[in-house]
Amino acid sequence: MDDKLMLMIPGPTPVPEQVLQALGKHPIGHRSGDFSAIMAEVTEGLKWLHQTQNDVLVLTASGTGAMEAGIINVLSPGDRVLAGCNGKFGDRWAEVCEAYGLNVERVSAEWGKPLDPEQFRTLLEADTEKTIKAVILTHSETSTGVLNDLEAINQVVKAHGALIIVDAVTSLGACSLPIDEWGLDIVGSGSQKGYMIPPGLSFVAVSPKAWTAYETAKLPRYYLDLGKYRKSAVKNTNPFTPAINLIVALQAALRMMKAEGLETIFARHARQRAATRAAIAALNLPLFAPDSHASPAVTAVMPSGVDAEQLRSIVRKQFDIALAGGQDHLKGKIFRIGHLGFVSDRDILTAIAAIEAALQALHAEGFTPGAGVSAAAKVLNG
Ligand SMILES: *Cc1c(COP(=O)(O)O)cnc(C)c1O
Repeated sequence: MDDKLMLMIPGPTPVPEQVLQALGKHPIGHRSGDFSAIMAEVTEGLKWLHQTQNDVLVLTASGTGAMEAGIINVLSPGDRVLAGCNGKFGDRWAEVCEAYGLNVERVSAEWGKPLDPEQFRTLLEADTEKTIKAVILTHSETSTGVLNDLEAINQVVKAHGALIIVDAVTSLGACSLPIDEWGLDIVGSGSQKGYMIPPGLSFVAVSPKAWTAYETAKLPRYYLDLGKYRKSAVKNTNPFTPAINLIVALQAALRMMKAEGLETIFARHARQRAATRAAIAALNLPLFAPDSHASPAVTAVMPSGVDAEQLRSIVRKQFDIALAGGQDHLKGKIFRIGHLGFVSDRDILTAIAAIEAALQALHAEGFTPGAGVSAAAKVLNG
């Protein structure tokens, strides 16, 4: 049915009507006082959301742009870095590092399993010469639904002294990421995820230690030169023409987030993660990520007995709900339910009900119709 599509994918995520209306306005000049007033409010809101006093810079780029910026502004050719790889996005950051001629060591775990902090500890403790310049990892690995133990890995990085560069694209705004308390150096995120606005902007939080590294970093940079963004940010503007309409939309979205409150937002994501996982377990479908390391943004399911793509197709065509499929070698093997950003408890019940209906349509065995909705409702009711 036209106009009924419900996005339950981990980005782009649903956009609230207040934000759509903000998007519908005429663009204004990005060198105007009106724009600077919006930027000032947005910058303050971003620092609030990031729980930081560090610079939080706004780039007109997708999330990958923010991460690439984070990497190339603080490192030099040949620098030794560790990259946590347990999914599509972790692999991507290793590839970015290789593209720029860094000396990358992958610290890997099987897809669906969390990264092991002890592996980082072993490598970092052995590095008495301090040749490792940075550790790069993905907090919420969207491709598998795993939430890596950033706090534990960060502790071993801090003991060593290397920079820590974090992809927080699907954790920022979904669970607490106390940047200042943990001392995270670079944190990247993207507008189409927890921010409740469409794709096109990305954000990078930069610590004073990262700025010190910036001074001597030698990789080439121009559009993604964060120094340019810092200089403009002081004047509440942007070095190039930014996606002005998206920044206006971001102002509306941040106001909504402030009204809801950080703790309430995190609690909502945690509740919806718990409800989704309880429902999937009650339907006898295997969860791909362990309970101990489950992403607050996305739940991956590896169904046995039914075809993940057929299930997704029924849910999409008959019930107008988009679920995500698997990426790379997980294509066709898993489906993923996004519960990130502008998602209400009703959306969870609706998605679970549609999955149950699709299981019935596929004559799946070993599940009790209604069991998923009932389990989710129990969690949502508290
Ligand atoms: C969506 C996503 C990105 C960014 O992808 P873009 O397509 O460049 O916006 C990066 N990391 C993770 C974990 C993501 O989920």
